[in-house]
Amino acid sequence: MAHCIVPEAEAILDKEFPVLDKGFIRLVDYLGGDERVVQSARVSYGEGTKSYREDAGLIDYLLRNRHTSPFEQISLTFHVKMPIFIARQWIRHRTARLNEISGRYSVMKDDFYVPVPEDVALQSTDNKQGRSDKALESAAVEKVRSFLAEGQKRAYGEYTSLIDQGIARELARINLPLSLYTEIYWNIDLHNLFHFLELRLGAHAQKEIRLYARTLLEITKKVVPRCCESFERHLLGGVSFSKEELAELNKRLGNGGEPTLSGKALERFEEKLRT
Ligand SMILES: Cc1cc2nc3c(=O)[nH]c(=O)nc-3n(C[C@H](O)[C@H](O)[C@H](O)COP(=O)(O)OP(=O)(O)OC[C@H]3O[C@@H](n4cnc5c(N)ncnc54)[C@H](O)[C@@H]3O)c2cc1C
Repeated sequence: MAHCIVPEAEAILDKEFPVLDKGFIRLVDYLGGDERVVQSARVSYGEGTKSYREDAGLIDYLLRNRHTSPFEQISLTFHVKMPIFIARQWIRHRTARLNEISGRYSVMKDDFYVPVPEDVALQSTDNKQGRSDKALESAAVEKVRSFLAEGQKRAYGEYTSLIDQGIARELARINLPLSLYTEIYWNIDLHNLFHFLELRLGAHAQKEIRLYARTLLEITKKVVPRCCESFERHLLGGVSFSKEELAELNKRLGNGGEPTLSGKALERFEEKLRT
């Protein structure tokens, strides 16, 4: 089968998509497109691509029914610049290959993340992992932002002073904060990228990584628009119900049965119905 060239993806190769104050994502390379998913799924029948509608239908069927291996035939490489606290969450996704800039080899740049005013918030009282959505007074917000910026300036000043004294780069860096930007080359197949996006676009993921995930999805749409459409329809926009939740749903639809949920399980179910 021919090498896949996707004009929309070619047009954005190497283009920086900004994320946060100093970060970005760049599509470095891609292998395959929507067509490749179709070709690899049909290889067992010795058939090639069919009409646009039939191909889109096949992609949708494969994704909905978790026939995942044709999506693994697509590979994407991104160059990502992000704060270290995001990179720590990012690299938990083990089904990818990556290289990171070395603070032992290079002097780290003076690039730190400071949240924009609307992203500065108090700890949420009902979500241990999240921030409150109540607005803070602007004086309090500015105090937090300058506190962060001053700490970063001090840490970077001490870092460069140690470098100037000839201290090893691998030691001079150890007091630099998590807000320092790092850079990675990240290669992942489409099936595992969708898994990453499903988790990191979710409402429970930290806002900053959600912004990166959103940009990743926008870039990926240029490479595999039909796959992304099915991803948004079934994995991102769809909801799955447990056996007990389905029974509850049937009861509410008037199909009979006893109440099956209570307490937290009932709350989670109600939340699913709202989304
Ligand atoms: C909102 C949110 C909050 C989180 N909070 C925390 C936290 O507080 N603390 C924390 O430590 N982590 C936390 N995580 C990270 C989370 O537990 C996962 O490590 C991360 O999301 C990567 O998911 P994954 O393992 O499915 O992905 P991948 O590593 O890409 O793996 C994909 C799939 O491959 C399989 N797989 C890959 N490697 C192995 C292996 N070695 N053995 C067996 N199966 C494997 C698994 O089926 C896995 O689901 C959080 C993640 C999210 C989204």
